[in-house]
Amino acid sequence: MKNRKMSLRPYITFISIITLCCACLISCSIVVVGAWLFYHGPITLVSGIIMCFLACILSMISGGITLYIIFGRLLKPIEELNPVVNEIAEGNFNVRIERDERKKGSYLYANELDELAANVNKMAEELSSMDYMRKDFMSNVSHEIKTPVAAITSVAELLLDELLEEQKQKEYLTLIYQEARRLSILGEDMLQMSHLDHKKIVVRNDKVRVDEQLRRAVILLSQKWSESGHKFDLNFCEAVVESDKSLMMQVWINLIDNAMKYSPINSTIHINEYIKENKLIVSFQDEGIGIENEKMSKIFDKFYQCEESHKKQGSGLGLSIVKRILELLGGEIHYESEKNIGTTAIVEIWIYK
Ligand code: ADP
Repeated sequence: MKNRKMSLRPYITFISIITLCCACLISCSIVVVGAWLFYHGPITLVSGIIMCFLACILSMISGGITLYIIFGRLLKPIEELNPVVNEIAEGNFNVRIERDERKKGSYLYANELDELAANVNKMAEELSSMDYMRKDFMSNVSHEIKTPVAAITSVAELLLDELLEEQKQKEYLTLIYQEARRLSILGEDMLQMSHLDHKKIVVRNDKVRVDEQLRRAVILLSQKWSESGHKFDLNFCEAVVESDKSLMMQVWINLIDNAMKYSPINSTIHINEYIKENKLIVSFQDEGIGIENEKMSKIFDKFYQCEESHKKQGSGLGLSIVKRILELLGGEIHYESEKNIGTTAIVEIWIYK
């Protein structure tokens, strides 16, 4: 489908030519009729020049007035655009320019000005949704910070007010330690998320042996979750990719950590790594709690956590960090899951030759 019903450039040229021709014709006719009615002398060079001059002046006046009226109508949308753009500049993103649907017919836009109006409307919509996301982000951040701070304050008050036995004191101090640690992890995650959000490109000049990184990540996390008793079923191939090794390691750590966090003790985690066409594929399959279908689309959102009961185990930023890292490294991630059966995270990374 063609985008514009008509282009303003030929339209304005056409209108101008027609207007000027008509103005010329009418002026010449007026001068000739005037001369015929009121001038009875001989037609000399001087009288000819005067008649031409009069015709020119009349053409300019009538042509000018007609074009002034036509352009006034044609450029009316620009006058309507100005206050709307001003409102947007002042932070009101709810304003829109009204477009005449009849003018455009089956086309996307009536002309360039209509296209400009449509784009200004689109910009206002985008800004409005970004503004909503910013406000939503702020309320999420304040909520995430307020909860542990409130817990720390109330437990610290109990410790200060009461003469507690040593066992109780220890319990409360452990609670304070856990909440403070949660705050510190949240801070680190937020800092990294903002750092990654601002990054446009990552230099990929490390030759990374992915299978070795995966093995190291498994050992590291087995130490962290030493009591969990998880078993690992590893199937790796020897693959080298040009990437950023610390960012890549972070992807593996986050995904294995999630697989361990959200699956029962003594269950098995299957990690497969293989090359298919020009992609390196790594999958992490657990036998855990799974994710409900309707929640799947949200798991990469910042601060989103599917289960209230697991809220304390993370910040909800892990997967958004993983997704952003993979965008920067030239890869992608998707999840497959079945509630109470298990979850598989599949990472695909382009191998550039
Ligand atoms: P969190 O810090 O809460 O783990 P993530 O961003 O890493 O946050 O994950 C977002 C949510 O996705 C988690 O809160 C969890 O509910 C769900 N999730 C992620 N990985 C798994 C998994 N392997 N099994 C079940 N649920 C998962």
